[in-house]
Amino acid sequence: MKLNTKLWFDPSRLLVGGTWRDAEGGGSIPVENPSTGEAVASIAAGTPGDVEAAVRAAEAALDGEWGAMTATERGRILIRWARLVEERAETLAHLESTDVGKPITQARNDATALARYFEFYGGAADKVMGETIPYQAGTTVLTLREPHGVTAHIIPWNYPMQILGRSIGAALAMGNACVLKPAEDASLSALAVAALAEEAGLPAGALNVVTGYGDEVGAALSAHPRVHHVSFTGSVGTGRRIQSAAAENVVPVTLELGGKSPHIVFDDCDLEAALPTLVGACIQAAGQTCSAASRVLVQRGIYAEVKAKMAAAYGRLVAGPASGGFDLGPLVSGRQKAIVTRYIAQGRDELTVAAEGRIDDDAPAKGHYVAPVLFADVPADHALAQEEIFGPVQVMIPFEDEAEAIRIANGTDYGLVAGVWTENGARQMRLARRLHCGQVFVNNYGAGGGVELPFGGVGKSGHGREKGFEALYGFSRLKTVSIRHG
Ligand code: ADP
Repeated sequence: MKLNTKLWFDPSRLLVGGTWRDAEGGGSIPVENPSTGEAVASIAAGTPGDVEAAVRAAEAALDGEWGAMTATERGRILIRWARLVEERAETLAHLESTDVGKPITQARNDATALARYFEFYGGAADKVMGETIPYQAGTTVLTLREPHGVTAHIIPWNYPMQILGRSIGAALAMGNACVLKPAEDASLSALAVAALAEEAGLPAGALNVVTGYGDEVGAALSAHPRVHHVSFTGSVGTGRRIQSAAAENVVPVTLELGGKSPHIVFDDCDLEAALPTLVGACIQAAGQTCSAASRVLVQRGIYAEVKAKMAAAYGRLVAGPASGGFDLGPLVSGRQKAIVTRYIAQGRDELTVAAEGRIDDDAPAKGHYVAPVLFADVPADHALAQEEIFGPVQVMIPFEDEAEAIRIANGTDYGLVAGVWTENGARQMRLARRLHCGQVFVNNYGAGGGVELPFGGVGKSGHGREKGFEALYGFSRLKTVSIRHG
C-alpha cells in the first residue's frame, strides 16, 4: 500500500449491506498510479455472486429503514454527506489524482463538484411533486413519483467522483437503493465516498459498491433480473451491451456515451475570451472527458489567426505527473495511451500537425504520458474528426458560413455538447436550436461542471438526462392514482 495518506476505508474490500468484505473467492485487481506506472494498492475483484448479494442487500434496504424514510430525511443525509466530502476533499482529491492521473488541481475541482451534487440533490429530495389532474366528476386523479427500486450505476474512470455524485446523488434523493460498480481502473474514490455515507447516516444497503471487471461485475449487474434501472457512462460499445442486457429484463437505461463535441468560432466573436477555452475544454483531464471539445470549427476570415494563437498555446503545454503543476497529467492506462498514440500516428501520416506540446523531461518513464497534438485543416469526414479519441488531440476545421458550420457540427454520429462563439444574438439563437446535441454553450463552455444543468446526448452520445433537477425524473417513475369518491 503506497497511497501516501491515512485512509478511513480499506480499498481492498467491497461494501455490501453495510458490511465491508472481501470479494467472493478473494480475487483482487492491482491499482496502478498512471503517473509512475507503479502499483499503489489493490481492489477486490467482485463476482456475479457479489452482485447477487448486493442486489439482495439493496432490496432489504428498500423493505427496511431506507424505504420507510421521508424525502426530507433522505435529503438531510445527502447534505451531511456533502459536508463530509468537503471536510475530506483534500484526501479525496489525492486519491483520485493518484488513481487516474489527473492533476491535483483538477481533482480538487472534482471533489468540490461531488459535494455540490450531494448538496443539490439533498436540497431537491423533498421538492419533487406530483400533480392533480382534472378528470371525471366525483373522481380525483393524482400522480405520485416513486423510486424505481434497485438501481445499478456503472461508471467510468475519467471523472469517478463527479459521475458517481450525479448518478448516486439523484438516485438516492428519489429513494432508490443503489448498486455502484466503479471502473476497474478507478475505484478508490468510490469506496472512500461510500465509507463517508455510513458516517452521514445512510442506512445499510441503500448504497452497495461492488468493484471488479466490467465483463464480470458490470455484465452481471446490467443483466440482473431484479435491477429496475441501469445508468451507465462510458464507451458506445459497452453502452450497447448494457442496453441489450437491460432489454432482456425490459428495464429503463440512461446512457451517456461521450462525443465529438465542436467549438464553432465565428469571425465576429470575442476571440481573446474564447481562446483559453478552445484549448482548455479539450486538454482538461488530458482529453479524457466525454464533453471534450475535440473539434474546433473556425470561420475562414479568422482561421489563420486562430490557428496561430492555438498553436502558440499548444507549444506551451506540458504533460507531467499529476502531483506537479502541469497542464495535463498522464492518460489513465497503458491501454488508453496505445489507443490515443495510434490516432496520433494516423494523424501524422494523413494530416497537418499545427503544433504540439511536450512531456516534461523528468516525467517517470513508466507513466502513461502523451504530448498534446493540434491538427489543422482537417477534412470534416476524416477519422480524427469523426471518432472519439479520448486523449489530448484536437482538430481544426475551417468553414465558410453558418450553414456549413451547422452541417459540419451535426455531421458526426455523436451529439453531446456544442460551444458557439459569436456576438450575433440572432445567430446564437439559431445555432442553439439547430445543433443536434444535449447542451449548447454560447460564449462559454461548461464541460465538466454545471451540477444544476441537465446533461446527456443524442445519437451515439446516448439518451436520458442526468444532472440538474431533470435527473430526479429519470431516477423515478410516475404512478397515476384515480380515486372515485362521488
Ligand atoms: P473503457 O473501454 O474505456 O474502459 P468502458 O465503457 O468499457 O470504457 O467502461 C466503463 C465502465 O463500464 C467500467 O466500469 C467498466 O468496468 C464497465 N464495463 C465494461 N464492460 C462492461 C460490460 N460488458 N457490461 C457492463 N459493464 C461493463
